[in-house]
Amino acid sequence: MTTRQRIIGGNWKMNTTLSSAKALAAAVCNGVIASPGRARVILVPPFPYLVAVAEVIAREISPGSSAATRVALGAQDTSPEPDGAFTGEVSLAMLKDCGCSYVLTGHSERRHILGEPDSLVNTKTRAALAAGFNVILCVGETLHERVTGHTHAVNERQLRAGLEGVAPEQLPRLVIAYEPVWAIGTGKNATPADAQDAHAKIRAVLATMHGQPAADAAVIQYGGSVKASNAAELFAQPDIDGGLIGGASLKADEFLAIVNAAG
Ligand code: PEP
Repeated sequence: MTTRQRIIGGNWKMNTTLSSAKALAAAVCNGVIASPGRARVILVPPFPYLVAVAEVIAREISPGSSAATRVALGAQDTSPEPDGAFTGEVSLAMLKDCGCSYVLTGHSERRHILGEPDSLVNTKTRAALAAGFNVILCVGETLHERVTGHTHAVNERQLRAGLEGVAPEQLPRLVIAYEPVWAIGTGKNATPADAQDAHAKIRAVLATMHGQPAADAAVIQYGGSVKASNAAELFAQPDIDGGLIGGASLKADEFLAIVNAAG
């Protein structure tokens, strides 16, 4: 039985309106308050709604309650730059002001739609960790990479490149999300056995980079069409420590069922 913290992220991507974001956040907070679980829940709304969602979390959850340690706010991306002439970008200091304590880096939509290379993912990861954030670094292979037998090589490359220069003492604030690109938003998910195999190999790479104790302590989430109906089977795998959830995080009941499946 793993003693690692289970973490469920809800990545809302470019969805919701101001009012639906507030309603969704309130429903998730109230569901967490009502459930006896221990899994941590990270709400990751679009940038313009971060402050509103932070206000909902502060309003719904009493400070000092067990739910207060379970719900946190995350950003979908960050600029690695501290400030300046970077039109359209959002800095880590701004995200901190909005109440974020988590940042996603290397999401496949940023890698593959927006063309972010490993080097930029690494710069963002290092900047966010240096600024005191928790980072969810996403890795995962495309369908072509999978069918040509490159899944583990791709994960290893993205992991090593993404974590270059990350100090051992920063690792407790790092979460890895294994998200096979072909499973994201497609309704196809990796089988629990395939996901477990990928997670175990990712943990083995972390062990070669930072030693077995750090690898054993690392939280590795699975992402890719996780739903209430498949979450328990995925989370039962020994190296799967929760999930990064896209589509299913937009429906409070479905998302809360996934959170509860994580225990
Ligand atoms: C994601 O975008 O991180 C994701 C896993 O999306 P979905 O759950 O919709 O596949």
